[in-house]
Amino acid sequence: MIDLDEAAERDRFHDECGVVGIYGHEEASNLAYLSLYALQHRGQESAGIVSAKDNFLISHRGLGLVADVFNEDIIRKLEGTAAIGHNRYSTSGQTLLKNTQPFVVEYGGGLAVAHNGNLVNAQILRERLEESGSIFQSNVDSEVIIHLIASSKGKRTIERVIDALSEIRGAYSLVFLTPNELVAARDPHGLRPLVLGRIKEAVVVGSETCALDLIGATYEREIEPGEVLHVSSEGIHSYRPFPAVARTSCIFEYVYFARPDSRVYGRNVYEVRKELGRQLAREHPAPADIVIPVPDSGLPAALGYAEQAGLPFEMGLVRNHYVGRTFIEPRDAIRHFGVKVKLNAQAEVLSGRRVIVVDDSIVRGTTSRKIVQMLRAAGAREVHMRISSPPTIGSCFYGIDTPTTEELIASSHSVEEIRRFITADSLGFLSERGLYAFLKGRDQNGFCAACFTGRYPVPVEDQGRTHQLVLFEAEDR
Ligand code: AMP
Repeated sequence: MIDLDEAAERDRFHDECGVVGIYGHEEASNLAYLSLYALQHRGQESAGIVSAKDNFLISHRGLGLVADVFNEDIIRKLEGTAAIGHNRYSTSGQTLLKNTQPFVVEYGGGLAVAHNGNLVNAQILRERLEESGSIFQSNVDSEVIIHLIASSKGKRTIERVIDALSEIRGAYSLVFLTPNELVAARDPHGLRPLVLGRIKEAVVVGSETCALDLIGATYEREIEPGEVLHVSSEGIHSYRPFPAVARTSCIFEYVYFARPDSRVYGRNVYEVRKELGRQLAREHPAPADIVIPVPDSGLPAALGYAEQAGLPFEMGLVRNHYVGRTFIEPRDAIRHFGVKVKLNAQAEVLSGRRVIVVDDSIVRGTTSRKIVQMLRAAGAREVHMRISSPPTIGSCFYGIDTPTTEELIASSHSVEEIRRFITADSLGFLSERGLYAFLKGRDQNGFCAACFTGRYPVPVEDQGRTHQLVLFEAEDR
């Protein structure tokens, strides 16, 4: 049998995700739902919650946004005092319900897992498990973890989870749920974020602190790289079962992915982005009248840039926040329609002005090109593009959705060539050193910046077995 949906799905990574976990609260699933709501930016393709009541797990998963997947009735049915949840990201392509998370199996009274990150040896492990008789239901890495747990000889859940984790490599922030325990784990490199908080006596874990803020939980600390946290009626126990390795947390969470109001790796993301903008202004000044952001991604960096440069900050581009997946374009195609649906340039602000426009990153360059042209069409006299990260030259294998290296414009073009492609009067990227400006001279180690440097801290063992996806289909219109 050929399942066409599946064939399409196999070609794709869909790894940007958000995870949450609540233990010890009467309204666990409602809180999980709200936390997922706060983490919606980490995944818009699907959402799911699994709750634990008495001796069993109750699950609901669906395609779409958190608010579309759940309603009051469903939340009421997700009874119990513990719950985990997951948001999954995709920019394009087919989606299968069976690949949505949390992933749930009947094994041992019930086990559910929610995963943010991307394993670099999942295919190798899967082939090994299949050879020894495991039958897989989905294409998600998390199912490999479940099979490893099932094949462990450990007696207690925590032992079996640790056994499984000791076999997997790559990026993971994981939350597990059984009918009476919750386990949260972060990979030894700390590639993806995961935080711990409390709401009264209840324990809350989540990808970012914005998930805690919405439900009134207090932030306690990061779950440390390599830490496995076991939560049960006996309390919280922290395990560090793996040999310590150098920390390499994803810098792109700071550059683009995390919500600016979150605290990630112990720092406020907004402040980090603003500092990147200030540093960008130091490195790449331009003779201009105003600074404008590409909303929302370039906003904090543009504020920092304007502050440092002593230039007025203006909203020359305004974003429509309600853009869905599809729109019906008139037969007589509109120029730059794809970008225009999201962003509109304001002639009143731009006309006759020399404009510095700040965005967080250039991937394929197609959006930047259209933005520059839109700004000129709205009357901008000069357009100086400034990017608050270095040129993106490498795909991510640790959970950020990126096109193949060949599709990244900076992998094969100089800054001058990119400037010509996007038709800007000047173009400036933050330097690799400048990316760490927020550390104020402290040690720069501790981050993965492979997408900017090509230096990958964890070898990709699955290389050649999987394909990267084609990103931003809609942007090409
Ligand atoms: P491009 O036109 O391909 O250069 O896309 C650049 C835009 O994509 C910038 O505005 C970024 O904020 C945004 N961007 C960068 N990385 C990602 C990502 N992994 N997922 C979605 N959008 C991204």
